[in-house]
Amino acid sequence: MPATASRPEAGRPEASDRYQAGRRVTLIAAGINLFLALIKFAGGIFAHSQALIADAIDSTADLFSDMAVLYGARQSARAPDAKHPYGHGRIETLVSVFLGGVLLATAAGISLHAAQRLLDPEQILPPGPAALAVAVVAIALKEWIYRYTLRVGRETRSRMLEANAWHQRTDSISSLVVLTGVGGSLLGMPYLDPVAAIGVSVLIARVGWELLWQSASELADSALARERVAAIRRTIRDVEGVHGLHMLRTRRAGPDALVDVHVQVNPHISVSEGHRIAEHIRERLIRDLDEVSDVLVHIDTEDDQSFERGRTLPLRADLERQIRGTIADVPGAEQVRQVLLHYDADRIGVELHLPLELAPDAAAARSLAERLKTPLYDVPHVVDVAVHFVI
Ligand SMILES: [Zn+2]
Ligand SMILES: [Zn+2]
Repeated sequence: MPATASRPEAGRPEASDRYQAGRRVTLIAAGINLFLALIKFAGGIFAHSQALIADAIDSTADLFSDMAVLYGARQSARAPDAKHPYGHGRIETLVSVFLGGVLLATAAGISLHAAQRLLDPEQILPPGPAALAVAVVAIALKEWIYRYTLRVGRETRSRMLEANAWHQRTDSISSLVVLTGVGGSLLGMPYLDPVAAIGVSVLIARVGWELLWQSASELADSALARERVAAIRRTIRDVEGVHGLHMLRTRRAGPDALVDVHVQVNPHISVSEGHRIAEHIRERLIRDLDEVSDVLVHIDTEDDQSFERGRTLPLRADLERQIRGTIADVPGAEQVRQVLLHYDADRIGVELHLPLELAPDAAAARSLAERLKTPLYDVPHVVDVAVHFVI
């Protein structure tokens, strides 16, 4: 009695709230990056500071990563369509992979640069006052937007926004390194700057690697965390009519989680009741587990994890022909109204429905039932036959 229940949620209101929150914080971040790029370029040109101009180029590059985030947020908020029937959450995941890679590259760049300065101390030039002023402004703005973005990212379960938040923080940290460098050279410790820079780049690399790894494993269809899978299992078991479950599979698509599962029910309920149970499981999971956005329930009458069982059993047309042929010469057999089939592993149960008029009394009913049942046990796979007389 297999029944499935699946329907992609079209344009959930949650998806649009989520998009609005992500869009707002990213637009503010882009505004900050634009502002910083402008004052760094201006400061660099007027104060003849190479370092500031390099920093300005970095802020311009940050603008592009904000645009990638805006693109990812807009795409992932779209409802599923024919080309992307599972929704667009994975587009956000792809952007996260990209941002993780950018963080790793940033870390490598910072530490290479610092190592060069350590090996060649002549290059250690204390940044001028213009760089100092810009650094202070950048630290304040970037630290604020880092916290804001991280909060929205966590609230909306967006790894992409979390990645962008960390990107903002790397900028505030590299400005902090500039400050440390100035302080260090004022205190007569010119090595402080490159050493601090290397320490910071290790931190950035760790965050970048984690984001890259999490997003890449999402693309490889890794399951949800163990306790979430356990919660899904508990929720399904709690549903009335569920006798057991197996082959529970979960995976992520951006902020969403997709679930598919085999659920065992009483083998003698109707297909529509099985379907009702499947729909109920789907509704419960979507309602009770925040991240679950779609569920596919496969209704089983038995634990069919060993796939060999029952594979060769005949389908109805073939079987009904055999059944009707076998009982053809029993008087009244032509009046069989309905043949119900019950498949159980490699056995088949048969229920015949006949009009009540064929059984005027209990003795006649019993006798006709026996005459119908006995030959049917010779039909291959048939192990159980029931005869009903119905009005
Ligand atoms: Zn359905
Ligand atoms: Zn199954």
